[in-house]
Amino acid sequence: AMSVVVESLTKRFTAGGTPAVSDVSFQAPAGAITTLLGPSGAGKSTILRLIAGLELPDAGRVLIDGVDCTELSVQRRGIGVVFQSYALFKHMTVRENIAFGLNVRKQSRSETEARVDEMLKLVQLEELGHRYPGQLSGGQRQRVAFARALAIRPKLLLLDEPFGALDTRVRVELREWLHELHVQTGVTTLLVTHDQEEALEISQHVVIMEAGRVAQAGPPAEIYDRPATPFVASFVGGTSVLSGHVREGRAHLGSLHVAAPATAREGEAVRVFVRPHDIKLVKTVGGNHVNGANGAVPSRVERFKPVGGYVKVLLKLPSGDTVAVEVPRSEFDQLGVAEGDSVQADVRTAS
Ligand code: ADP
Repeated sequence: AMSVVVESLTKRFTAGGTPAVSDVSFQAPAGAITTLLGPSGAGKSTILRLIAGLELPDAGRVLIDGVDCTELSVQRRGIGVVFQSYALFKHMTVRENIAFGLNVRKQSRSETEARVDEMLKLVQLEELGHRYPGQLSGGQRQRVAFARALAIRPKLLLLDEPFGALDTRVRVELREWLHELHVQTGVTTLLVTHDQEEALEISQHVVIMEAGRVAQAGPPAEIYDRPATPFVASFVGGTSVLSGHVREGRAHLGSLHVAAPATAREGEAVRVFVRPHDIKLVKTVGGNHVNGANGAVPSRVERFKPVGGYVKVLLKLPSGDTVAVEVPRSEFDQLGVAEGDSVQADVRTAS
């Protein structure tokens, strides 16, 4: 498998305007799935198009397996591409669609047929080779798009929101499926998504994009556990950022306090990232607040919304800060609180 290295890529669409991609460098390790994660407009698709050769950069280089291919044509890069819209040829059968890239490369008929069979098996659509795209479900069409991209034995697979047009259930199913497919093929893959759950679940390496620049790059666990900036913290994991000061080794955030980082000095201003599961809610009994280890504080339930097995609660602290909290459904039901009610917020001691 091949690694991809992007060096100081810059791309402007309007002369003198803000670059869509600005001095971007990162590495996609060989044989891994790397995701480009970020909000819409962050420059993710543009980077993919620069790597594919569909756009030329104003500055910077693209190295595939150590070879500079910034100037190479799309065809000579040996890349398979799958976009959000299926982009299958409607007037061709599934088999003909998968064979398309092989025919362009003038493979022999028997070689092509054998490869198409192999690809149909790989994407588990052996029975549907004779159908037309219009006779398939969205998920099946996207699997054909993968088969077509992989048929040419690409060095690199580029995926731009490949499941973005599908409903949630199919998207989650195909996510699992892509993971399996990747285990089987081992092809170096670069996936663009704005879905943090998809990125954290599927990839071994994550590059977070913000406004045309790399905000942070690293393994999913590192990005989640040690976000480098408030933007990364809030984008990955819905984390709230609270400001406070260090006093006697604790970071005081209004009336909440948590252990301060070892390097923090007395009186220093600190920002603390509070993840949705970091805060525990305790019912206020008869107006009495029992101080927890981290200084439980009376807070107000601004809003809440059940999502799956969790309830997402927006909490207003006495300091005026709001914090997003996730509480297991059964725990929330036991609290029996309504919007506007008062609860105590305590930081879980584990963190
Ligand atoms: P993302 O994939 O993260 O949503 P894009 O790479 O599509 O972001 O876009 C980054 C920025 O570049 C956006 O501001 C977008 O409007 C602009 N842009 C992308 N493609 C073009 C284009 N062909 N012409 C002009 N502007 C473009």
